[in-house]
Amino acid sequence: MKNVVILGATGSIGQSAVKVARDIPQQMRIVGLSAHRNLAKLGELAREFPEAALCVTSKEDPGTLDPCRKILRGEEGLVELATLPEADMVLIAIVGTGGLRPALAAIEAGKDLAIASKEILVMAGEIVMEAARRKGVKILPVDSEHNAIFQCLEGRDPAHVRRLLLTASGGPFRQSTPESLENVTPAQALKHPTWSMGNKITIDSATLFNKGLEMIEARWLFNVGIERIDVVVHPQSVVHSMVEFIDSSILAQLSRSDMCFPIQYAVTWPQRVPNSLPALDFAALSRLEFEAPRPGVFPALLLAREAGATGGTLPAVLNAANEVAVAAFLGGRLSFPGIWRTVEAVMAAHRTIATPALDAILEADLWARTRAAERIALSA
Ligand code: NDP
Ligand code: MG
Repeated sequence: MKNVVILGATGSIGQSAVKVARDIPQQMRIVGLSAHRNLAKLGELAREFPEAALCVTSKEDPGTLDPCRKILRGEEGLVELATLPEADMVLIAIVGTGGLRPALAAIEAGKDLAIASKEILVMAGEIVMEAARRKGVKILPVDSEHNAIFQCLEGRDPAHVRRLLLTASGGPFRQSTPESLENVTPAQALKHPTWSMGNKITIDSATLFNKGLEMIEARWLFNVGIERIDVVVHPQSVVHSMVEFIDSSILAQLSRSDMCFPIQYAVTWPQRVPNSLPALDFAALSRLEFEAPRPGVFPALLLAREAGATGGTLPAVLNAANEVAVAAFLGGRLSFPGIWRTVEAVMAAHRTIATPALDAILEADLWARTRAAERIALSA
């Protein structure tokens, strides 16, 4: 039995994690839940899990929640939740970088982490992984590609690995012309062909920044140079990712596209337990297709490779500029290609610090957000 805290319980990943807890109650008990603004959903969860500690991070009034329970507040509350004495594992499912400090606090308190929030690994992967090594805690990837690679790498000698192959659905504009991308609307970009997810990651999937962020995420999770991480477009999202070995043999992990699979594996690792999830029906699959990505049309892949190869503060800058640009696009203040043009411009203006401490990373993050906002305001 694992006692799990879910940071970002009201989101898409958070809700899938709750489904997993309902499905395997002998292996997973929820002991903490956080929400930002969706207090109605947190209220439902609070009733279903009466023993879980609660945290609200927004300024919203939690008055309607259980009056008998202490409600933790803000980032301090998240840190308290992430370090609860009864917790074995903390699932970080907060969109963006708001889970970074709680994640570091959980590691210091000796908790294992299941990480969905790729942004925190892009921003500070070296610091997170180093802290985990020092404390002897486990970092379990929840992102489906990384969970797949984690499964393919288990028990393997790192010297036998040639490259990691991240699969990408290609998003809704996989076959679009570069010209047509100029007029993409938020509603079009929010229609993901294979996954149902939160808004930010859905836009990232459409620009392919999601895959770019995942390349950097993989670089830290698996300690593999970014030059050995490649992307293959696979529109059906059945093969979740692959590992190629030095003898040119390739292992892949397959399942239906449901985040309950990787979440459950992160929670029960190193065990596997039966669940109610249906297995793949190969006879019903019409085909599995693979194709090369188009980095010329989706420059996010090139920008991420550059940021990953340069390292230092540059990945944090890419991530922060992207977050601001995605919010501006969703708010109707920036075109779709404006997202990568903003990121490219902010990266070009940044002076990278090579081996930054956390303060320098946070400073670079803030600088990039300001710079991106200024550029977007000017172009409006
Ligand atoms: P959602 O937008 O669905 O959920 C985000 C969660 O974070 C909600 O619980 C939300 O609270 C909370 N939140 C939002 N802003 C803040 C903040 N400033 N401080 C604290 N909490 C906040 O996102 P997803 O679940 O889709 O994604 C979560 C993370 O997981 C992302 O980093 C994403 O990249 C990653 N991921 C997601 C996948 C998916 O299938 N969805 C797949 C792989 C990775 P509230 O709703 O109460 O406001
Ligand atoms: Mg993914």
